[in-house]
Amino acid sequence: MRYSNLFIPTMRETPSGINAISHILMLRAGYVRQLAAGLFIFLPLGWRVLNKINTILKEEMERIGAQEISMPILHPAEIWQQTGRWYTIKEEMFRLKDRTGRDMCLGMTHEEIMAWIASKEIKSYRQLPQIWYQIQTKLRDEARPRGGVLRTREFIMKDSYSFDIDWKGLDESYRLHTEAYHRIFTRCGLLYYQVESDPGIMGDLESHEFMAPTPAGEDDIVLCDNCDYAANIEVAKANLPTLLPLNLEFKEIYTPQKKSVKEVSEFLNIDEKFFIKTLLVISEKNEPVLVMLRGDQELNEKKLAKIIGEFTFATFEQAEEILGVELGFVGPIGHNIKKIADLSIQREIHYISGANKKDYHLQGIVPGVHFEAQWTDIRKVKERDLCPKCGKSVRVEKAIEVGNIFKLGTKYTEPLHAYFLDRDGVEKPIIMGSYGIGTARVAAAAIEQNYDKDGIIWPKSISPFDIEIIPLNMGDAKTVKLAEELYEKVGEIYNSFADRHMEVLIDDRDERPGVKFKDADLIGIPIQVIIGEKALKENKIEIRKRRTKESKLVSINKAVVEIVNSYYETY
Ligand code: ATP
Ligand code: MG
Repeated sequence: MRYSNLFIPTMRETPSGINAISHILMLRAGYVRQLAAGLFIFLPLGWRVLNKINTILKEEMERIGAQEISMPILHPAEIWQQTGRWYTIKEEMFRLKDRTGRDMCLGMTHEEIMAWIASKEIKSYRQLPQIWYQIQTKLRDEARPRGGVLRTREFIMKDSYSFDIDWKGLDESYRLHTEAYHRIFTRCGLLYYQVESDPGIMGDLESHEFMAPTPAGEDDIVLCDNCDYAANIEVAKANLPTLLPLNLEFKEIYTPQKKSVKEVSEFLNIDEKFFIKTLLVISEKNEPVLVMLRGDQELNEKKLAKIIGEFTFATFEQAEEILGVELGFVGPIGHNIKKIADLSIQREIHYISGANKKDYHLQGIVPGVHFEAQWTDIRKVKERDLCPKCGKSVRVEKAIEVGNIFKLGTKYTEPLHAYFLDRDGVEKPIIMGSYGIGTARVAAAAIEQNYDKDGIIWPKSISPFDIEIIPLNMGDAKTVKLAEELYEKVGEIYNSFADRHMEVLIDDRDERPGVKFKDADLIGIPIQVIIGEKALKENKIEIRKRRTKESKLVSINKAVVEIVNSYYETY
């Protein structure tokens, strides 16, 4: 394609108030423009990238036998009411009424519609298994759209759904998707990890996320370099090194004005590990709950929410009212309210915590002896904790979720009556799975992982073009003639890497070389072919790799082969 025919509105300045690298670069390189909060327009280059990714998604889905279909974005409320998600999902769902006053919503995902169509059409085990997928728009009124196209309110998702006769069948569909996902993200040039995850609103069976590590990520993932343990911090488990006990006489100690674990620990010169952090929270059912963890540990709010629902931390006033003591001196002994304690303090050794009396703490507390609680894992794993699989230290990394896979079982098929007759004529619910990948998020994650100070460095599989030809002086007939020739010839080469022809962009604008170089680096096409008068005099052109900025002069009669080889060499 010709640069002069393409709309690529690059910007020299970094727009203000924008943080994510991918957002800055997509704007600056003319890939996207923002319409409103969380709504983006994909300009020609941006759309080409999405199409590249969608092609990879399609190819890998078809490879595992998935069939493409298309479902409406506008849904009748009843189907969502039948599964209950009409009520459990809150502001994230866009709701509206049609002209007859009927409740409708915009699809934020399609489990309901999929289970509905399966309930109508699948009658017998002979029709199973099936995998259906679509690449289509989703709408979610996200609380915090952010990072450009990383989190938007309207986005394209590849969503696939598997239907099986039994759990063994689901395991196989899940395995097929896992393999497809590895191929997809590898082909897209992403660094990624497959991690155990929290199924959230999808269900409560096995699920995994595919996470692209980058500082721009919203998620923390826990990784073990010694074995293959990898989990989202929301569900990650790990152990703590064994604590050598201290001997502390059971007695109250005067700790004037010292409230936090840190303050008391410094005041008494006793390590925070020997403290019990006691927190008062108010559960979803409006019940007070006393939550306990080891003094040096943090609460994992997601883990606690799984037990008591969405909760809030008690205010100063609530604590006074419920426990009769100031926050900061609350301890585990002597309250009749529900208690949940983390496994990190389930040891019969001496600890210190609040004495439930202003300005006093109590030492020598022995869990299980002085107080009882519901013992469970509510701790947030941190760097250097011990891997639950192999015992070596784990590390924590920031990452962006680019895809996920969920086992749904009968969560949607039962309420929507998606039953089939098995071999023995017995009616059974279809066993379902659901699998998503966000196209634009893959593109943004690729930029977050591949850029330099001058712009984007596309992994070549998803670059909008393979090769950019840059004639420096459009006024020089010899330059233009050669550029046009190479444009034709390279474009005729079959790109066996991508199973199509080479896609070549020629910068035929009448611009200064400096402008062309800056734009070329900004838009990030892997190979630049520079045609300048000086080299031409020696019958040479320059081939430059965007990623490494390595450049070499090659003679004109070998140009095509050298360009194609350089393309194959780079990644
Ligand atoms: P997140 O935790 O980031 O909100 P999610 O768990 O809600 O993601 P799913 O509903 O499972 O995500 O969607 C599948 C995929 O769709 C995600 O892995 C991600 O790639 C993409 N995706 C989800 N929400 C958005 C969004 N608001 N903008 C862009 N892509 C999204
Ligand atoms: Mg979400």
